[in-house]
Amino acid sequence: MLAQKFFIQDNRSELLLCAHKYDFDIRFFDQMADFVAAATQSGQEDLFVVDLDVLYNMQLDNNRTMFLSDLLKRLPEQHHYVYLQTEKQSGRFLLQRMLVEHRCLAYADKPIANDVLVDKLYNLFAKRRQDETSRVLYLGDEACFDLDLLDAHHIELLAHADVQTLHLRLKQSQAAVVVIEDKYFLRTEVIVQVLKRNMEVDPSLEIVMLQGTPDPALARRAIEGGFDEIMLRKDRDVLTRQLVNRVGKIRVNKDLISKDRATGLLNKIGFQLRAQEQIRRAAEANVPLALAVIDIDKFKTINDTWGHYFGDIVIKRLSLLLSGQMRAQDLLSRFGGEEFVMLLWDCSPQQAYERLDQMRQGFGAVVFEVEPGQSRQFSFSGGLAAYPAIRTENELFLQADERLYDAKQAGRNRIVA
Ligand code: GH3
Ligand code: MG
Ligand code: MG
Repeated sequence: MLAQKFFIQDNRSELLLCAHKYDFDIRFFDQMADFVAAATQSGQEDLFVVDLDVLYNMQLDNNRTMFLSDLLKRLPEQHHYVYLQTEKQSGRFLLQRMLVEHRCLAYADKPIANDVLVDKLYNLFAKRRQDETSRVLYLGDEACFDLDLLDAHHIELLAHADVQTLHLRLKQSQAAVVVIEDKYFLRTEVIVQVLKRNMEVDPSLEIVMLQGTPDPALARRAIEGGFDEIMLRKDRDVLTRQLVNRVGKIRVNKDLISKDRATGLLNKIGFQLRAQEQIRRAAEANVPLALAVIDIDKFKTINDTWGHYFGDIVIKRLSLLLSGQMRAQDLLSRFGGEEFVMLLWDCSPQQAYERLDQMRQGFGAVVFEVEPGQSRQFSFSGGLAAYPAIRTENELFLQADERLYDAKQAGRNRIVA
C-alpha cells in the first residue's frame, strides 16, 4: 500500500490487525520509488493499493507537485491497482476516468473504515482464487460457445441432448448454470420446473434460455415458467462472455453463502453441500471416508483471559495448520466458533485416527505469545466417524460429535474414534 500522510498511515496498526484476521499482510510504503520497486518484484498474487493523498504530499525530483498522470505513468505495467481517493477527488469524473483507464482493479472513496477496507480487499483476493471449475450444462445441439474462452475462466461445458435425463445429469454434475435451447423448451415447457423443484438442487442454480431469433411472447412464457435469463444465440463471442460473467456472479454469491469470511474455509452450509457430493462420489468409487469434528479445549478461558481478538488468532492459526494437512479431495470447514469439521477422502478409520492425532500434536506444539515474554500452548479434542459404516453426512456428523463429547469427558486433548 502506497500512502503518505493522514488517514491510512495513521491507521496503520489497526489496519494491520484487521488484515491479519483475514490472513493477509499489508506492507506500507511512503516513497514512490520503494513502492514501484516492490511492485516490480511482486507476483500476481499480491494486491496493490494506492492512496491518492500521495498527490498532495509528494514532489517530483524537480520539486514540481506530482500530478495523477505522473503517478500513473510510474506504476509498473504488469499489475492492476486499487485506488483510494479523497471525497474531493471522487467528485471529479475526469479523474475517475483516468483511473479506470489505467489498470484500475477497483477504487474506493475515503473515509473508509479499516475493517470495511480490509473486507473489500479480502473479497478481491477471494475473487482471484477462482481455481475451482464451474460447470455449465447445455441442452442443445449447436456449438455456440467458445470453449477455449470458457476454459480460460475455469468453466466446463457439459453438452447434453436428452430432455428426459437432464435433471439427473444436473444432480450428478452440480452445474452452476443450465442453458436450454428454445426448441427444447418448446417441446417440453415443464423442464424448468422439473429442474428447479428438486430439493437437492443448489438454490443458486441459474437456468438460461438460448433464443435463435428474438421472440418476445416465447421469452415471456419462459421467464414466467421459471427461466432466469434469455440470451440470444447471435454472436458466439458475446454469448460466451455473457456466460462467463454470469458464472462469475454465481461464484461470488456462492462464496458469500458457503465460506467463512474470517478463515476462507467452507462454512457449515458449504461443507454440507460438498460433503454430500463427496459421499456420492465415494459410493461410486468405493472408497472409505472419515468425518472428524474437532473443538478447541477451554476456549472460553482463552477468550476470557487474553481477549476475544487473541481468541480469533488462535482460531486462525488452527485453520492454517489444518489447511496444510488437507489433501486434494479432503474437505475442511469451520462450523462455527472454534469448531472445525473435516471429511477425509479415501481414509480408513485407523488412518483417520492417525492423521487426526498428528494434527492434534501439531497444534499442541504451536507456541503462542499471549503477552510479551509469556507463552502458552493449547489443545483440541476430536471425534471420528467412518463411511461406509455410517452412510449419510448428517449421521456421520452426529456420531463424530458424540465421540467429541466423549473425548471432552475423558479429559480433553485427545481423539476418540
Ligand atoms: P470445551 O473444552 O468444553 O470445548 O470448552 P470451551 O470453553 O471451548 O467451551 P465452548 O465450546 O462452550 O466455548 C466456546 C466459546 O467460543 C464460546 C464463545 O464465546 C466463543 N466463540 C465463539 N465464536 C468465536 C469467535 O469467532 N471468536 C472468538 N474469539 N470466540 C468465539
Ligand atoms: Mg465449542
Ligand atoms: Mg471448545
